[in-house]
Amino acid sequence: MNLQDISIKNLKGIGEKKALAFERLGISSVYDLLSFYPRRYEDRSSFKPLALLSDGETACISAVAASEPRLVRVRRGMELVKLKIADESGIADITFFNQPYVKNLLIKGEEYNFYGRAEVNGSRVSLVNPLFEKSSAAGKLTGRIMPVYPLTKGINQKTIISSMELALSAYGGASEELLPEDIISKKRLCSASFALHNIHFPQSFEALRKAKRKLVFQELFVLSCALGRMKGRCAQETGIRLSFVDIEEFFSSLPFSPTGAQRRAVKEALADMESGRVMNRLLQGDVGSGKTLVAAALCFAAVKSGYTCALMAPTEILAMQHLETMKAFLQNAGIEVAALTGSMKAAEKKAVKNSLAAGEIGLIIGTHALLSEDVQLPRLALVITDEQHRFGVDQRAVLASKGQAPHVLVMSATPIPRTLALIIYGDLDLSILDEMPPGRQRVDTFCVDSSYDSRLNAFIKKQAEEGHRVFVVCPKVEEEEEAPSLLKSAEEHREELAAALPSLSIGCVHGRMKPKEKEEAMAAFVRGETQVLVSTTVIEVGVDVPEASLIIVRNAERFGLSQLHQLRGRVGRGAVKSFCVLVTDSCGEDVKARMKIMCSTNDGFKISEEDLRLRGPGDFFGSRQHGLPEMRIADLGADVNVLKEAQLEAGLLLERDPALSSCPALRERIDRLFIIS
Ligand code: ADP
Ligand code: MG
Repeated sequence: MNLQDISIKNLKGIGEKKALAFERLGISSVYDLLSFYPRRYEDRSSFKPLALLSDGETACISAVAASEPRLVRVRRGMELVKLKIADESGIADITFFNQPYVKNLLIKGEEYNFYGRAEVNGSRVSLVNPLFEKSSAAGKLTGRIMPVYPLTKGINQKTIISSMELALSAYGGASEELLPEDIISKKRLCSASFALHNIHFPQSFEALRKAKRKLVFQELFVLSCALGRMKGRCAQETGIRLSFVDIEEFFSSLPFSPTGAQRRAVKEALADMESGRVMNRLLQGDVGSGKTLVAAALCFAAVKSGYTCALMAPTEILAMQHLETMKAFLQNAGIEVAALTGSMKAAEKKAVKNSLAAGEIGLIIGTHALLSEDVQLPRLALVITDEQHRFGVDQRAVLASKGQAPHVLVMSATPIPRTLALIIYGDLDLSILDEMPPGRQRVDTFCVDSSYDSRLNAFIKKQAEEGHRVFVVCPKVEEEEEAPSLLKSAEEHREELAAALPSLSIGCVHGRMKPKEKEEAMAAFVRGETQVLVSTTVIEVGVDVPEASLIIVRNAERFGLSQLHQLRGRVGRGAVKSFCVLVTDSCGEDVKARMKIMCSTNDGFKISEEDLRLRGPGDFFGSRQHGLPEMRIADLGADVNVLKEAQLEAGLLLERDPALSSCPALRERIDRLFIIS
């Protein structure tokens, strides 16, 4: 019996409608429900004397109903029930609004437990709408630690709590132990069933702590085992062994000399590719750090050894730009570079596919089209993916499966705090470009509100007249946006700008355009036919326009820190002094915090750390960003030490039992976590 296969509709009280609401919380199976953990807990386990309550405090009180409850009609539609309660320390007034039935539930002289927020005014203590139950039959609402779950429309705390109780009593006993016995005892972890019961309905805070420790460790252990197994597969596979290549020959063909960091990264990757093992390497570097050059050097080595390479980019624009850059880097060496994208004409595609099959192309660049089945990539030795967070783990696997275990280089411009990257990308080795090419300068960053628009327009005009280019970025307007009128679309921004700056030529790129149109608009900007480009974030990754000196981000509050940093990286790539202006009318604290960080630093790693701190790891490592499963209880930022322990144990276990045949439950969980091909 696998709880992942049992629908929550098997629980009493959950029908079609409730099930749909639960689905919005990501809950469809009993397993999902049981691993839907509380957001926080309310301590209703200890009682506070009335005399010791402070104003605004939420507490449990045990007291006797000291007066007969009175029903008071203030006016139509407003009924109050009032009474006095007393404990040994003092008295308090209680008022219930519009709950007339309460009058008959409270009996003078009886003892009750109350839970609510106290108002203290001098010596007067009062409680409004407290929850209550008889002291002699307490334990449901008071006298315990109450879980507080995240909610959605159609699901309240009461619903979740009662469903959870049902699920726990029906299935909680059968909760399987995922961890091997020896690890449980070595790490002094509690049992699976104890953990499950106490994470939802803790008997005490000590029990809660134990439960949490177990579940966090377990979650990170499962993740580590999964990553470890993937890495293990790669290490076992024999990789294509490149012959020794004189990489200096490549370096000396360049118009500039590579940075120390670029040389180091190339050396690390070449060592892998000459070792006979399969390379699986993450190349991490801030925007503009020169990752493309590293990729080109590796292609050079592979092609000179008689093999071919493939580079996958997340967008067509980026693929085309990579094509230009790679051509410039590799043409001198006589290496054929070509692109294959979805928007190419059928005949063009056919021609490229034929050349590919004939082995005439050294480096093929493309988008997801490269994953399609009829593309043959003979003698494929190296697969490079750009911006790995746009590709799932499984997609990488599909491409890799096309060749005979090609080497994989993943380029990422999303800086992740270094310690964390080493752990998170447990399946990848890591090279970091921590040095910028010379001449790169700080992009001065400012944050303004939209009252600055006319001054901003004057600034745009000045930049354009000096021969520079300007990016204006606005958030994508979603169809389902509640108040679409508040957000202007890229096209609306373009029209406004064109009206304000009639002497300038202003282009536009947005998601609803056809790939071909996007391409053309982008190309016109690169060539300088348009001086200003208004766009949604399609320019976010990688596009290189050295003449761009100003980027303006409209509704900057809509963007996350890492995204803003990526966008800013579009300027300051040439010799000209560059600027970034963030426009927002939002005064939210979190928005202000983000803008302040952007204005104070250009350091991508620092920004990623702040991003992690502000957003919390749940969002930062949202599974879409890195292709890892979502963590339900572990905090990848805060639980780094537990993660290290879990990794160590996972490593030891995999060494002893690589197939995990001694732990079938663990193995099944892992297989469901990732689709491992
Ligand atoms: P990213 O890491 O953001 O992908 P790119 O590879 O696009 O960075 O490089 C950014 C720019 O820096 C490109 O115009 C590239 O030609 C240039 N560049 C790369 N390496 C060097 C270097 N060692 N010296 C000078 N310019 C370099
Ligand atoms: Mg790039």
